[in-house]
Amino acid sequence: MKKVFFVIVTVILLSGATYLTDKNFFKTYSGPSPAPTHKVTKKSPVKEAAPKTDTPKKQLPDTLSYIVLVNKTHKLSSDYVPPDLRTPKVRFESYAAPNVRKMRSNAADAVEQLFADAKDDRITLLGVSCYRPYSYQEEVYSAKVEKDGKSEADKYVAEPGSSEHQTGLAMDLLSTEYTSLDDGFAKTKAYEWLKQNCAKYGFIIRYPKEKVSVTKYDFEPWHIRYVGTTAAQDIMSKGITLEEYLGITD
Ligand SMILES: [Zn+2]
Repeated sequence: MKKVFFVIVTVILLSGATYLTDKNFFKTYSGPSPAPTHKVTKKSPVKEAAPKTDTPKKQLPDTLSYIVLVNKTHKLSSDYVPPDLRTPKVRFESYAAPNVRKMRSNAADAVEQLFADAKDDRITLLGVSCYRPYSYQEEVYSAKVEKDGKSEADKYVAEPGSSEHQTGLAMDLLSTEYTSLDDGFAKTKAYEWLKQNCAKYGFIIRYPKEKVSVTKYDFEPWHIRYVGTTAAQDIMSKGITLEEYLGITD
């Protein structure tokens, strides 16, 4: 009897040990789960579209608008001639060619007032060049290309159609204080006066020194552009360019 009991106890102990060492024990383990590891989910193979960061492009103003944009990428056609040109009654540089003294009517009115008010502040402005027809631009450009080559010409002379002088809204001007069309004009009282006052008459300093990367034109302190008083005051008070005002900087 003792022997039988011993065998039964041995069988029970052995089967218990086997059960405890059985790997299956862990599979059936139902205690608390281990802390979850970070799941690595497969990325979707479909690429998402890049987020849109640029604002929708504004429409280019009409050619006849006072805020028309004319630059190296937005050109006027060879046959565009402003409809309402007249010569403003202001003093011009003696060397100013007679065929480049016209402006569009509203711009001419404004420039007459601007010259008169500058005079009251003891500044005598002198007109140099206003409306330039396409054919005139062609002559100037091809003469420069012939003389210095295209890349050199492109730095200083606008390709035909890309000069806003064709709009009849721009004027190059100097003063009796300084009569050369170069950077030196920026140091004059006349330039300081223009910066402070031109917006009241609807004009902007079109090619500021710090905006060459936007306008793609070198600093031209002598070049003012009529855009109307609302746009001019906005542009000059914010220190921006016509390109930035219109949101068209390409
Ligand atoms: Zn100019």
